[in-house]
Formats: sequence, C-alpha cells, structure tokens
Amino acid sequence: MSSEPTKSLNFIEEIVESHNADGRFGGKVHTRFPPEPNGYLHIGHAKSICLNYGLAVRYNGKFNLRYDDTNPTTEEQEYVDAIRDDVRWLGGDWQGREFYASDYFDQLYEWAEKLIRDGKAYVDDLPADEIAKYRGDIKGGKPSPYRDRSVEENLDLFRRMKAGEFPDGSRTLRAKIDMNSPNFHLRDPIMYRIMHANHHRTGNKWCIYPMYDYAHGQSDSIEGITHSICTLEFEIHRPLYDWYINALGIYHPQQIEFARLTLAYTVLSKRRLIQLVTEKHVAGWDDPRMPTISGVRRRGYTPGAMRRFCERIGVSKFNGIIDMSWLEDALREDLNKKAPRVMGVLRPLKVVIENYPEGQVEEMVAINNPEDAAAGSRKVPFSKVLYIEQDDFRENPPKDFFRLAPGKEVRFRYAYFIKCVSAIKDAAGNVVELRCTYDPATRGGDAPDGRKVKGTIHWVSADHAIDAEVRLYDHLFAKPDPDDVPEGQTYLDNLNPKSLEVLTGCKLEPSLAGSSVGRTFQFERLGYFCVDKDSTAGKLVFNRAVTLRDSWAKIEKKGK
Ligand code: ATP
Ligand code: MG
Repeated sequence: MSSEPTKSLNFIEEIVESHNADGRFGGKVHTRFPPEPNGYLHIGHAKSICLNYGLAVRYNGKFNLRYDDTNPTTEEQEYVDAIRDDVRWLGGDWQGREFYASDYFDQLYEWAEKLIRDGKAYVDDLPADEIAKYRGDIKGGKPSPYRDRSVEENLDLFRRMKAGEFPDGSRTLRAKIDMNSPNFHLRDPIMYRIMHANHHRTGNKWCIYPMYDYAHGQSDSIEGITHSICTLEFEIHRPLYDWYINALGIYHPQQIEFARLTLAYTVLSKRRLIQLVTEKHVAGWDDPRMPTISGVRRRGYTPGAMRRFCERIGVSKFNGIIDMSWLEDALREDLNKKAPRVMGVLRPLKVVIENYPEGQVEEMVAINNPEDAAAGSRKVPFSKVLYIEQDDFRENPPKDFFRLAPGKEVRFRYAYFIKCVSAIKDAAGNVVELRCTYDPATRGGDAPDGRKVKGTIHWVSADHAIDAEVRLYDHLFAKPDPDDVPEGQTYLDNLNPKSLEVLTGCKLEPSLAGSSVGRTFQFERLGYFCVDKDSTAGKLVFNRAVTLRDSWAKIEKKGK
C-alpha cells in the first residue's frame, strides 16, 4: 500500500518490531479495522484503515474487517454495505476475513457465565443512574447492594435476562473488579444490558447485548489479532481490555493507542455527520463537501491520494489538527500524474476574432498530459467566436496582469497570439464581448518575428463547446475549529454558507462529451474536476475536486 518509501519507523512499527524480535506473537502481525456500522466512514477512519492495513502489508501479516455491531438500535445494513465498499475502495484487502462482533455473541455469553462461576461477575438490579452514583468520585465508590449475590443466583438471573424475562434497563451484568479503583472503567463495568431490540444480523435471538469493552478485546482474541490499534481515548480502557482477557485466560492481543485525526474546517465524528445528513445541512452522506470517504470519492479524491495523505500525516501519540492543505496537496500530486488536461471555461466571456475567416474551423493539437507522454494528444477546434474566462480580461489591468486587456496581446493555448481591440459593454456597464484580432503567423503559439507574450490563457470554441454545470466547493465550516462559537451557539452556526457554488452554462471543449461518471480531468489553469453522478446524457455535471495552486490569487491577496 506504500506509495512512498517510508523513513524512520513510527512508534507502532517500533512496538511491532520489538514483538517480532522477542517472539511475543511468533513473528506474526494480524491487525483489524473495527468500525461500528452506525454511520458512513470518514477521513479519520481512512487513517485507521491505512495504518492497520499498511502494517499487515509491511510485515507480511493479515488484516481483518470486523464490524463492531454490539448496539442494535443504531446499526443498519446500509452502513455495513457502505463501509465495505469504502474500505475496498481505499485498497484495504481483508481477503474474505469479514467478521462481526455479533458472530461471537454465543461465545461471549459462555464467557460471561464463566466469569459468574468464577465469582468475577454479578447481576445488578440498580438502574443506570444509580450505578453511576455508586461509582462515586475520586475518593472512591460504593458497592452495589447486589454485588455479593451467590453464583447460583447470578447464573439464574443472567439466564433469565437472556430468556427475556426482564424489561429493558431493569438489570445488568457487571464485572466484579474494584469499586475503589482510580480508573473508573474498573469500578465494576457493565458487561451486558437488556435491550429488546432487533439486531441487523441476529434478529430477535438476543435481548441482552454486550458492551463494547466486553466484546472488543475478546473479539480480537478470537480472531488472533496481534496488535489491536485504537485511538487515544481508549488508553484508559486498556486495563479493562487486559482484565477481561486475563480473567478468561484466553489469547492476549496487545492494544496500542494512537492520536485520532482531526482536520481543520470540518468535523470527524459520526454523530455529527449523521446530524448534518438528517437535518439536511448537506445533500447526503456522499455530498462532496462531507469529510466522509463516500463524499471525497464523489468529489474526485483517489485512493492513492488518500493513502499518500495518511502516510504523510503519520501516526503519533499527540493530538493535533491537520490542515486541509495536506489533503489537497496529496490529491494534486496524485492527479497531476494521471488526469488528462482539457480546456473548459467556467464563467464565459465571448470573444470575436475579427480578422478570422467566417465559417473556418481549425483543429489545434493539444497535449493530453505533459506528465505522461503515453497519454498522447487530441484535437481541439478553433474558430472565429470563442469563450474565455471572465477573469482573464481586465479593462484596467493592474501592473503584472499578463492576461487580456485593451491593446494587450496574449497566447491562446495551442492556437495563436490574440490581441484585444475593444470591449463591448451592456447597458449596466458590464463587459459582455471582446473584439480581438489574431496573428496567423503565430499558429502553434510562437511568433516568427521573435516577439514574446507573457500570458497564455485557455479558451473554447463557441460553436463546438458543450454546456456543463460545475459545482465549486469550499470548506464546510467557516472556522478551522467548528466548535469555536460564542456562548449559546453550536458548531452548526459555523457552517460555511459559501461551501457550495453552482455554476451553470459553463463551456467545455467537445472532447468531454459523454465522459463517464467518476472520471477526473484537469481543466487547464483551474483545477481538477470530476464527473458527478448527477450527470445525464444531455448534461454533464462536474465537481471541482481541488484547485490548482493559483499564484495570481495569492499575488492579489498580498496586494490587498
Ligand atoms: P466517531 O468518533 O466518528 O463516532 P468511532 O470511533 O465511534 O468514530 P468506530 O466505527 O468505532 O467509530 O471506529 C472504527 C475505528 O476507526 C476505530 O478503531 C477508531 O479508533 C478509528 N477512528 C475513528 N475515528 C478516527 C479518527 N478521527 N482518526 C483515526 N482513527 C479513527
Ligand atoms: Mg466507536
């Protein structure tokens, strides 16, 4: 999966190599990606997938996909399918080892009975809020009045919980650990809760469901996972992870924690992404503004770019915020090598070449990809009436503006030197048409008399252009930290009202006609654009995946 040579080892690789050296796992490396199927995957998950799968590849090991489906009320088949699709798209290969925590419900139940028989678990009748109160404060907790039930009574009650005799929330099974532990997770954590709910895989078979902490380590153990990698907030759960495995005397994987990915100008939390979708702040899970894998896919991101990004940000033990530019750069670098170049005009300004023969059409030879000689060339029609970008003309050009202006000459890419004679305005004073002349001797882009022009701009022939809709995207949130809000507001108040701009009537060179959904092109001088699934036979819709680095915009900004 590595697309770049890796430099020094990251801290997880160091741990793996030390295990390989001391033989703890017999030289084996077996990782897993354990999503809960309660939402679509986001870019943070991509980091976890790349990390886990990357380790398996690097150390000749294995990688499992395991759905952590212990909460029937939030999980859905739609999510299961979307997750599988996204992991595969990223290049993660689980070689058929697709597992579910729910596959292990019988085993987990057996083990719970064992812990009861060993005096290490008990049925508690306290309701949830009482359990929380009994957990106490830093000084210590207080044992539940039900903590010292006999093994027989516990077994009987637990079996009846399983048989459906008790209503939701009326009882729990708890591990009997230490009500005074400085680690609250060890103050008799809940193992099972009663939930009369339909599970997406086990249907109505169960009405008790294991808690994440009780299910996760044992699932790792069953699958023979060597390194169970999770995010830092689980560091404090590790003593419990270890406690269950030790109490059961089963194979013991090593949990390792790393810092979760946080990206500026967006949110990476399923709960919030669900809210954005259900409250229709975005058009769906795969809205190209969403930081979901399906969103960035639709926008035009490539698996190679995502992997490059994940490699570059690396893994560490420290939480930090990553700038979006890391993601954008990774995409530019990937597409620069692969994406064919084309010409397209987003905000058209009509240009009439006064001295160009009426009705004449010339086929100009255009290079498909200067980064890839094998990509060849194509022909682009040139004629008397053309469109250029409105931005490429200034009536009163500032110094260093090398594009068109009255009296100025520029190169039309792959065509001729063109000189602007005059600008025609509408009643409101807007420039609506340029009258220009061309120099027939400059065909191909150079003047035999040696005169130079500084600017080269793109164009399309009016008669030959196809119309398209182009969707431009900006950050979903207006602030780097969406939680940066005044008292009384929420992160939703930071949604960027300008995150989507829809341009219609864009003019594209005719070679783009019929482009299939998902194909990505570089529109010269503008950026990379991907054909959206909303395209129809009659009308193409493009998403701007990422801009090119726009040096002129930077110059102008500086000047302000
Ligand atoms: P969220 O916080 O978005 O709800 P989650 O942790 O509840 O995510 P899971 O489905 O449980 O989502 O996550 C699957 C795996 O992905 C876990 O191992 C988790 O640690 C990892 N993961 C989740 N979010 C990130 C992130 N932002 N950066 C890196 N890894 C992440
Ligand atoms: Mg989770």
